[in-house]
Amino acid sequence: MLSVSGLTTSFMLDERRWIPVVRNVSFDLAPRETVAIVGESGSGKSVTALSIMRLIPKEIGRVEGRVTLAGRDLLTLPEASMKDIRGNDVAMIFQEPMTSLNPVLTIGFQIAEALIQHRGLSRAAAEAETIRLLDRVRIPAARSRFHEHPHRFSGGMRQRVMIAMALACRPKLLIADEPTTALDVTIQAQILELLKELQQEEGMSILFITHDMGVVAEIADRTVVMYGGQAVETDATARIFATPSHPYTRALLAAVP
Ligand code: ADP
Ligand code: MG
Repeated sequence: MLSVSGLTTSFMLDERRWIPVVRNVSFDLAPRETVAIVGESGSGKSVTALSIMRLIPKEIGRVEGRVTLAGRDLLTLPEASMKDIRGNDVAMIFQEPMTSLNPVLTIGFQIAEALIQHRGLSRAAAEAETIRLLDRVRIPAARSRFHEHPHRFSGGMRQRVMIAMALACRPKLLIADEPTTALDVTIQAQILELLKELQQEEGMSILFITHDMGVVAEIADRTVVMYGGQAVETDATARIFATPSHPYTRALLAAVP
């Protein structure tokens, strides 16, 4: 599904100097698989995700290596094709859903717009599908909440809205960058359950970024441990927990309650 090989991303420090923040990262993600990238803050997780989706502006950063999605070479595709992939094949959700939701538009309108744009539905069909999606991510009273603005939703509910929006384009791959980090533990568990359920039913792959080994244990089939911009260990999650090979992985595990 997704194959990342020798990914290296450097940011421009000044005219002549570039600082590599992601170095030689490689991993694969199979269809219907969940792979976690785990590591402390600043280890290069978000930059890895942004590099894969080619969202690092050329003026500030340089991305090298090879990224293929369903056989297509993402780092060399024309920007127009890449836009198409971002809209149709890959969905991204982030820690703070407010940054991706427009505060002045109702959530129903925003999801319906995504359906009209990406799936070519009529307004009426898009509205019906929006209510189905809001129901699907377990927003209570979906029909009546359709016309509410994002600020009326709690953090957990906003993240559900973002997941509904992500599902609108029927992605092959969902990249989730710390989607539960800002949520309290109970809500976090509910969102993880929802993602697992959706993955089984929709058959997508998930790249799940987190700093929390507890979350990794809940959701990931395989895990990439990042430290200082490098992937220091990649293995089945169960094996990482049972027999961690890198000292940093052991330190991460020691911190799990
Ligand atoms: P993580 O998501 O693991 O917390 P990031 O991928 O956001 O870490 O950041 C990795 C490193 O890259 C950090 O040292 C960060 O300061 C640096 N970095 C991120 N974005 C930029 C940028 N636009 N310009 C320069 N350095 C950046
Ligand atoms: Mg990050």
